[in-house]
Amino acid sequence: MRRNVSLSEISDGKLYMENDMVKADCRGCAGCSDCCHGMGESIILDPYDAFRLSVGLRRSFASFLEREVELHVVDGVILPNLKMAGAGEACAFLNEQGRCSIHPYRPGICRIFPLGRYYENGTFRYFLQTGECKAAHSKVKVSKWIDTPDQKQNREFVTRWHYLLKEVEELAAQSDDETAKKLNLALLQIFYLTEYPADGSGTEEQNLQQKFDFYKHFEQCEQNYRNLFIAK
Ligand code: SF4
Ligand code: SF4
Repeated sequence: MRRNVSLSEISDGKLYMENDMVKADCRGCAGCSDCCHGMGESIILDPYDAFRLSVGLRRSFASFLEREVELHVVDGVILPNLKMAGAGEACAFLNEQGRCSIHPYRPGICRIFPLGRYYENGTFRYFLQTGECKAAHSKVKVSKWIDTPDQKQNREFVTRWHYLLKEVEELAAQSDDETAKKLNLALLQIFYLTEYPADGSGTEEQNLQQKFDFYKHFEQCEQNYRNLFIAK
C-alpha cells in the first residue's frame, strides 16, 4: 500500500540497502506483539508470500482465504491481506503465547518490519519506520533482518511485482467494470492460486527449499498475464 507522507515524517530520513546496518533489531520482541494486532488491511501478501505459506504449511492458498487471509481492493486492484479478527483485532497466526505461529513462513511485510520499502526510479530501498515499534532497537544488517534466501532474486521479484501492480492499477482505472473484474480475477488466479508441489514428505525447511523454482514460475506467470492483458 502506498502512503502519501513524506519520508522525513515517518523515518530517520535515511534509505538502506541489504548490506547496510540499520537500527531495526527489536531483540526478540520481549513479550510484545503490537504489530500483529490492529493492522487493518495493511499486511498485504505478494505471490512469494503465498508460495511460502502454501509450501511451508502444506495448504493451498484457497484454504487460507477461508480463514486467515481476506481480499480487499488496493488502488483498484484486488489483493490478499492477513485478516485481523476478534476483540483484539489479532492476526489469525498469532498464538496464545503472543508469538507468531508461522515464523519461518511469515509474510515479507512482517519480516522487514519496522522497515518499509521506498520505491523510486524502477527500484526500491528500505526505510526505518521510526514511530511504529516502541522496542529498544539494536543495529542489524538489513539482509540478516529480512531473513529471506536468494536476496538478489527476491529483490528482482519484489521490484517487478510492484511495478506490474502499478501497470495493472493504471489499466484497471482506464477499463470498464467488466474488464477491470477480469484483470483482477486473472491476477488472483495466475499469481496466487497456484497449487504448489508440497508433497508433505520432507521437513518444513526441506519443503521450502524443494526444487520448485518460484522465481522462474513467477516469470512465467508475469509473461502469461502480460500476454493476456498488457502486451496488446
Ligand atoms: S512492535 Fe516491535 S517489538 Fe512489538 S512485536 Fe512488533 S516488531 Fe516486535
Ligand atoms: S504472520 Fe506472524 S508476524 Fe505477521 S502479523 Fe501474523 S502473527 Fe504477526
